[in-house]
Amino acid sequence: MVNEKAYQHGSQRSLIRELFEYGRQRSAVVGRDAICDFSLGNPSVPPPAAVHEAYLSLLESGEDMLNHGYTSAAGCDELRSAVAGSLTRRFGMAISPENVYVTCGAAASLSSCFGALTLDAQSEFVALAPFFPEYRCFAEALGGKLRVVPADEESFQIDFAALEAVIGPHTQGVIVNSPNNPSGVVYTAETVRKLAQLLEEKSRQYGKVIYLISDEPYRELVYGDVEVPFLPAYYANTLVCYSYSKSLSLPGERIGYVLVPDCVEDSRRVFDAVAGAARLLGYVCAPSLVQRVIARCVDVQPDLTVYTRNRNLLIDSLSAMGYHCARPDGAFYLFLRSPRGSGAEFSQLAKEKDVLLVPGGGFGCENWLRIAYCVDTATVERSLERFELLQGK
Ligand code: PLP
Repeated sequence: MVNEKAYQHGSQRSLIRELFEYGRQRSAVVGRDAICDFSLGNPSVPPPAAVHEAYLSLLESGEDMLNHGYTSAAGCDELRSAVAGSLTRRFGMAISPENVYVTCGAAASLSSCFGALTLDAQSEFVALAPFFPEYRCFAEALGGKLRVVPADEESFQIDFAALEAVIGPHTQGVIVNSPNNPSGVVYTAETVRKLAQLLEEKSRQYGKVIYLISDEPYRELVYGDVEVPFLPAYYANTLVCYSYSKSLSLPGERIGYVLVPDCVEDSRRVFDAVAGAARLLGYVCAPSLVQRVIARCVDVQPDLTVYTRNRNLLIDSLSAMGYHCARPDGAFYLFLRSPRGSGAEFSQLAKEKDVLLVPGGGFGCENWLRIAYCVDTATVERSLERFELLQGK
């Protein structure tokens, strides 16, 4: 006998993985250049040179057991101090190393936060569509539930009336993800202010803290002069889940952190609960070598040249063809409204032309599709003629 829920999660691949695997098999048949694979959010831009240099110099240092031994569960001092210093400088809030819990990426950060805040089987976490489908697994791992607020498909900011209707006595946290996967939308300061106000009101109404869980792997990926608000400055009871997967192109290295700032009510207790949930989930510590690499690279910014070029090319070309997409101020995704039928139906039509687009249903938006443009520009260029054919113009 095995655990049925675990079996279901293990035997059914996510739709995104399914498409990606299909792309791999199909490219073995028709050749890699014949496929336009926009399925996976795997950065195509190599990590910045500073990351490469940090790896080399650490490996050459001869400090093998510092590089490869266990660290404290909360991360090595060097990294916690570097992160705290960087956040303090950037966001003007005093953050100390004790506020930073180093994790194996945003997935581990989120699971640990959900675990920390799950009181019993009735505990609920609220996600705002469109949302990263893995939230459901993370929320359920230690016994909580996920509730979903439908999207405002005009602006992809927050539908506050819909959010208010979903928050109830069992709500433990609201998850936001801005810049957003899959829409690329960044919440404005006005949206964040309204959200803070609503959460304060609801916390008062239910006589408990409703936490804001801010999932921020795309914080550094923004275009133009768009600002991503630092949420603890707007709402005190915010836990920030950060990751270097996308900003430094290190998704396979598994590195990120949870920030529990002092402004969180009873913040030491919350921090210890995050640590405890990470322990319950079996995260012993984040990989040591990459912790030390990041300690030297906390202020390194990504090179957005390729993503910017791909984004502009897609927006300009697809708009000229009559497609409609959400306003993508950040991340490396474009969220496209299906011009015909549901997102799943249009994804199938696109697949027949070897263009792989993820249908929006899994993100909570049936009539939309996600284009992950973290690919080389040649792939985008090759796809344009096919998008034109698919539009039927
Ligand atoms: N949250 C969002 C919105 C994501 O898009 C991803 C990965 O694609 C994650 C979390 C997980 O990121 P990580 O690789 O840091 O675990």
